[in-house]
Amino acid sequence: MGIVLSGGTVVTSEACFAVDVRVEGEKIAAVGLQVQEPNDQVVDVRGRFLLPGAVDAHTHFEDIAGTVKTADDFFTGSRAGLLGGTTTFIDFATPLPGETLQHAFESRRSQALGRSFCDFGFHMTITGWGQSIGSEMEKLVKLGVTSFKLFMAYKNDLQVSDEELFQVFQKTAELGGIAAVHCENGDVIEVLIRQALKAGNTSAAYHALTRPPAVEEEAVNRAVSLAMLAKAPLYIVHLSTREALRVVEQARLRGANVYIETCPQYLLLDDTYYAGSDFAGGKYVLSPPLRAKDHLTVLWAGVSQGMIDTLSTDHCAFLFKGQKDKGIHDFSKIPNGIPGVEDRLSLLYTYGVMQKKIDLCRMVSLTATKPAEIFGLYPQKGTVAVGSDADIVVWNPAEEGTISAATHHYALDYNPYEGFRKIGQAEQVFLRGEQVVTDGQLSLAAPRGKYLMRKPFANTVYNNERKFEYD
Ligand SMILES: [Zn+2]
Repeated sequence: MGIVLSGGTVVTSEACFAVDVRVEGEKIAAVGLQVQEPNDQVVDVRGRFLLPGAVDAHTHFEDIAGTVKTADDFFTGSRAGLLGGTTTFIDFATPLPGETLQHAFESRRSQALGRSFCDFGFHMTITGWGQSIGSEMEKLVKLGVTSFKLFMAYKNDLQVSDEELFQVFQKTAELGGIAAVHCENGDVIEVLIRQALKAGNTSAAYHALTRPPAVEEEAVNRAVSLAMLAKAPLYIVHLSTREALRVVEQARLRGANVYIETCPQYLLLDDTYYAGSDFAGGKYVLSPPLRAKDHLTVLWAGVSQGMIDTLSTDHCAFLFKGQKDKGIHDFSKIPNGIPGVEDRLSLLYTYGVMQKKIDLCRMVSLTATKPAEIFGLYPQKGTVAVGSDADIVVWNPAEEGTISAATHHYALDYNPYEGFRKIGQAEQVFLRGEQVVTDGQLSLAAPRGKYLMRKPFANTVYNNERKFEYD
């Protein structure tokens, strides 16, 4: 017996089709007309869009910044994601000092198993280079961890030197993987923070002023040049400035194999949120910081014209009371990050699709297909096609609401998009054939998310011919 979603419009990154989808077991068995078989359960989805389950390639659930633990763990974070239409996330495994990469990965995986509502994978954070790192990276690729995260910021913590960055790029290229890099010049930021605090400039606004656009532009330029030299594919996480976008465009004209991620906050929130004399700006302390409005305009153009490849969230939630306010008298002590995993699709639908900045296909590309392709999950994830996992979001475009901390599903006492209107809702969600959201509510008792082995970048569609199967 299968399930037939009947009467809706299937949306892929390529086109919209008025066809039915038949699910059998965990997979999509047929996409087309008259796909029903005897004993199938038929679900009426007239007036709805059938989107592939969204893939968030950048989350921080159950993570620690310094000594502060994120408010959302794998359970609450993935549950919020699922209710927003995200069925897969890629989080991070970061080794503690002296810990092997494999050990760090295994402990993250076991933390998430049994507690994640979404399917999941991990990027491996590399914090330095030593004799064993290369062979450890090799082991990780065999365990399905095919992307390596590097930080050019957070001095004396996660930041790597150019020497380390370059060697990891070379090894990544050799292994057929992809490097994901946080591009901000951490050395310069450190100087600017020191100078600001010395001058008595301690308010949240100085978080942004000590991380100006030039520190991102410079780091993106350096990362792109070094990745090209090492012949490594490069994924720039959370790009936030028009200058950095321009750097990547120039590099692409020289043949750089580089992909850009941005996040809803860099399209929808600007640096005026830091203004005001109270501590409200502390809610918006994240890195890179929010930018002036003209950057938002350019990033939207990048999103609509395809220069920006993916929209992930960098979901990293800290309580306003008790965590963010640790930095009320010193902005450098405010834990960095904001939530977004639940709101990503509705924000992009409301402010992108409904405002005609992008079409539905582009929305699917940014939030599902491209992240799945780049990180070795496609076509298992990221599309609605025969043979793919039956991760399907039944999107009701007639639903409307307002984003609020009073109704969101984060374990959090504020929402950075408080009061934002939202159009559309993940009315029903299927994860590997099982209905997990019904009428916008969670409809399963226990988390069923599974760990995903990811293919190396070198084996993805970027090196193979695309193949689509439709009746
Ligand atoms: Zn992040």
